[in-house]
Amino acid sequence: MAVNSTLLNTMRVAKETVVAIEYTLKDDQGNIIDASGDRGPMECLHGAQNIIPGLEQGVEGLVAGDTKNVLVPPQLGYGEYSEKLLQLVPLTAFGANTPQVGMRFHAETNLGMRVLTIKKIDGEEVTLDGNHELAGKTLHFDIKVVSVRAAEPTELAHGHPHQSGGCCGGGGCGSGEASGGGCCSTEEGSEGGCCSTEEPAAQKQGGCGSGGCGCS
Ligand SMILES: [Zn+2]
Repeated sequence: MAVNSTLLNTMRVAKETVVAIEYTLKDDQGNIIDASGDRGPMECLHGAQNIIPGLEQGVEGLVAGDTKNVLVPPQLGYGEYSEKLLQLVPLTAFGANTPQVGMRFHAETNLGMRVLTIKKIDGEEVTLDGNHELAGKTLHFDIKVVSVRAAEPTELAHGHPHQSGGCCGGGGCGSGEASGGGCCSTEEGSEGGCCSTEEPAAQKQGGCGSGGCGCS
């Protein structure tokens, strides 16, 4: 049976496998931006764009137990920073709310629903930034592959991994803050979906639940 267990242990990350990784994400200066840490390993269906392309490419071919430094340039991460995603709105647009620099919120834009960050407040003018907070950044991932397994047919159909806790349970890719009306119970793109707040940095924006998972 030694041969069999060896085979099992050496399943490589490839299309139609579910890979669980622990990661620490740092910027160019070595500051930690995000880490799987207490969330536990991030589980993703490989090849289904659950995570940013650079990280998905980085784990390809690895086996459980492997560690690796993965360098992800902006074009394989969250894109280049675009000045076109800056817009000015009058302070009055916020009504009774008091905007503050750094505040983030969802808004419908001509590019669809996006997370906007208040970048600057200059008198009566507020500058909103529609870039992802990691746009333009080179990402340094320290990853460890925790497990690799074959994907279940329903996972392939849904385009994301399922866990013991159900579709969005327990620390997997696209879970995190999904508790309470989690990603599988809301329609794609609807406000308040699981990817709308505090998503793990490694997770591709819109990746989670983008198939409008109906599993429950
Ligand atoms: Zn599902």
